[in-house]
Amino acid sequence: MYKFAVIVLVAFFAKMANAQDDYPTKRERMVKSQLLARDISDSVTLNAMRQVERHEFVPESMKQYAYADGPLSIGHKQTISQPYIVAYMTQELKLKPGHRVLEIGTGSGYQAAVLATIVDSVYTIEIVEPLGLLADKRLKRLGYKNIETKIGDGYHGWPDKAPFDAIIVTAAVKVIPPALIDQLAEGGRMIIPVGQTNYYRNLVLVTRKNGKIKTKKRIPVAFVPFTREKK
Ligand code: SAH
Repeated sequence: MYKFAVIVLVAFFAKMANAQDDYPTKRERMVKSQLLARDISDSVTLNAMRQVERHEFVPESMKQYAYADGPLSIGHKQTISQPYIVAYMTQELKLKPGHRVLEIGTGSGYQAAVLATIVDSVYTIEIVEPLGLLADKRLKRLGYKNIETKIGDGYHGWPDKAPFDAIIVTAAVKVIPPALIDQLAEGGRMIIPVGQTNYYRNLVLVTRKNGKIKTKKRIPVAFVPFTREKK
């Protein structure tokens, strides 16, 4: 009886300790168990994932799950991507500090913050106005000074700010928007989820080398669809 009570007590305190783990501890555990344990090995990406406070990018009610191994709802039928996918896409871009990066699909602003931790300037476009405005406010509050946000249809890219060393699209397309390919700098890399149906999509890496465009299929993924502005 006494032994049983001790076991119950130990289990209870272990659970409490876990629930009360602070965010830095949870974030470090996320990096180890979700990223390093898989195939994320790029130190630049890992450092950014260690720094950005993911819990600041989710609704209050989701904060306790901010470092879980999956996507989370951010309202307006949209999601913040799974940490592993954010890291995978970031790693594929082979970012350098001086780079200019375009993101289509600001959502919560989390991916933009990860990029901005690595590079000089990030430009990000969101089609759902309330999400874009909220992300802009949040990024300013958190002190990100090298991210420019815009509300609009990212199908056309951001011609005034092109060319970009890297482009990341965080909503799934059927066909890669031609304007995005046009706005990719020489030596540039774009990562984008592509698929004909809602169920089978792949991350595709697009590169421009000596003027030649190449595409390469990477991993299968689930993503919210790329939408178009209502005419
Ligand atoms: N990168 C985000 C994940 C966003 S989910 C994050 O880190 O939280 C994909 C986002 O793409 C959604 O917010 C959706 O509204 C947006 N989106 C879909 N189609 C778009 C388009 N044509 N232009 C810009 N944003 C678009």
